[in-house]
Amino acid sequence: QEQEAHAAEDKCSLSIFFFQLERTFIAIKPDGVQRGLISEIMSRFERKGFKLVAIKITVPSKDFAQKHYHDLKTRAFFDVLCDVFSSGPVIAMVWEGEGVIKYGRKLIGATDPQKSEPGTIRGDLAVVVGRNIIHGSDGPETAKDEINLWFKPEELVNYSSNAEKWLYG
Ligand code: ADP
Repeated sequence: QEQEAHAAEDKCSLSIFFFQLERTFIAIKPDGVQRGLISEIMSRFERKGFKLVAIKITVPSKDFAQKHYHDLKTRAFFDVLCDVFSSGPVIAMVWEGEGVIKYGRKLIGATDPQKSEPGTIRGDLAVVVGRNIIHGSDGPETAKDEINLWFKPEELVNYSSNAEKWLYG
């Protein structure tokens, strides 16, 4: 009977091992860090059931900020955006889980906190678009590019958590 239980456990962890869990890049911007919202923001991802696989605290240079936001270089607010983004420490993270890219954006809320629903991070914790405290990749390609820009492959930690068999069955 014990052997059967072990076999069932192995099967379970194997099926978890082969899950194609996606990853997204999330950053708490300098305004979020300075306002003491790091643990508040992280707990929302953690409690949902997403798994942290990489994290660092760093002050990005302006040049790096421009690389991160290169898609927006023609926008009027680009220079100010990069100034703010490089003005202090940023918490850079990679979160993993089924649907984490799209759902991460839902947790974050609309770009303009005035339009973010209550219950979202920006809806609950921010007021204006230029200080909206958090960044999250907006699609699979961006997620891949941003993870590669911010992290070396060896900085991403592959592990399974005990919660996964209860989260995913
Ligand atoms: P998101 O961060 O929701 O993906 P965007 O990629 O469109 O939004 O914009 C990147 C960041 O640029 C926003 O999070 C916000 O900080 C800033 N931003 C966007 N629109 C404006 C604006 N009209 N004025 C000032 N800053 C803006």
